[in-house]
Amino acid sequence: MSTVLDNIHGTTGSAKSLADRDREFVARPTTRIPVAVTGGDGAYLVDADGRRLLDLTSGWNVANTGWNHPRVVEAVVRQARQMSFSPPWCTHDGRSSVAERLSDLLGGGYKALCGATGSEAVEAALKVARRATGRQAIVGFTEAYHGGTLGSMQAGGVPQLHAVDVPSTEFHRYAPIPDALRSNGVDYAAALREVLASGPAPAAILLEPIFTNPGVIHGDAQFYAAVQQAARDVGALIIMDEVGTGFGRTGHAFGFQHWGMDPDIVVVAKALTSGAVPMAGALMKEDLSSAVAGPGFSSTFGWVPLACAAAHASLDVISDEDLVARAATLGQRGLDRLSSLVAAYPSVAAIRGKGLEMGIEFTDESGKPFSRPPMENLTSRLLRRGIFAEPSSYTSTLLLMPPLVISDEDWARALDAIEEEIADMTRKGEFQ
Ligand code: PMP
Repeated sequence: MSTVLDNIHGTTGSAKSLADRDREFVARPTTRIPVAVTGGDGAYLVDADGRRLLDLTSGWNVANTGWNHPRVVEAVVRQARQMSFSPPWCTHDGRSSVAERLSDLLGGGYKALCGATGSEAVEAALKVARRATGRQAIVGFTEAYHGGTLGSMQAGGVPQLHAVDVPSTEFHRYAPIPDALRSNGVDYAAALREVLASGPAPAAILLEPIFTNPGVIHGDAQFYAAVQQAARDVGALIIMDEVGTGFGRTGHAFGFQHWGMDPDIVVVAKALTSGAVPMAGALMKEDLSSAVAGPGFSSTFGWVPLACAAAHASLDVISDEDLVARAATLGQRGLDRLSSLVAAYPSVAAIRGKGLEMGIEFTDESGKPFSRPPMENLTSRLLRRGIFAEPSSYTSTLLLMPPLVISDEDWARALDAIEEEIADMTRKGEFQ
């Protein structure tokens, strides 16, 4: 059976044979493109056939400092020679110094709970919130993804993840995501208040400052002020999932800083180490840390020396190369460049985002998301031009989330290519 991958890579080549092996031996083989990667540098990935691809994904907001930044690589190699792993119950300089640095980035007063993956850190945050408040319920948002472990799936609002693996319970409720395109007059702040009042008082409200997976969807400043106030009113904590939005991605160190929020627990992962070594944390206000007791919080691979070395190097690069400001500047340039597309092409419904977390949403003439084929067509067309981008779930949104080190020229080239492909698909009637 021919797939979109064959379409891109033809029927020969290393990437194709790796895809075949993947399908034979891996339970969840790749169905996405590019098939196989062997390396990368800066904003470029290199695939198994040696093609250089301008990456607009950052591996889903991981490679904020670019692929294989030399300073991150060097720090990891140096640390590996000394000690990669230490017994989890022994401290080491890296652990406390990264924790201090992250607390400083948040304005001070936070303590870290150490883990290896985003899902694990979300679960840790949920446990802390439940123990600290003595409550069980969590209020999340529809379509919001917070991880693939059972607890994080249940707390997130992606309907496909609920039916079989996790039952619905009165302890998990979901407010509508603040989707401006589909609001139909809904007051999202009022809807959240209704959900908060509709069952057992919640331990926490769990949200991303910008909902990445559904298609870079966010509310306005009043919405986030209302979330903050509503949490205070019902005595719930705010858990801010910054797994995808942290470390400069949105043009602030953390996404919630766009909205002036004051979260109780901030969850970080992904770009913390530029992806060099898995590392994640639930950063909680100091007074919550007394809830952290007993064996439920241990993590064998949480903040090992190798990961902490990668984190320090990544944070150094973000600061020394001024990547937070760079994301803000390039993001604004992107919004300016693309804003005319909504009027120019009937299928382009919205351009949105903050910093280098941007999305182009496409809808059919009735305002509904497209099924996969037009989005696969668009990403395939871009890939043929050496540009690698991915669509979102829930809405048909092309995600633009390149490494923050992307050059001015490459960013401009990518935006031009995207408009050219949209124009050609429109001309040929391929958006349907
Ligand atoms: N939260 C968000 C917002 C995410 O995007 C993801 C991963 N895509 C996670 C949590 C889970 O992180 P991980 O895959 O490292 O467990």
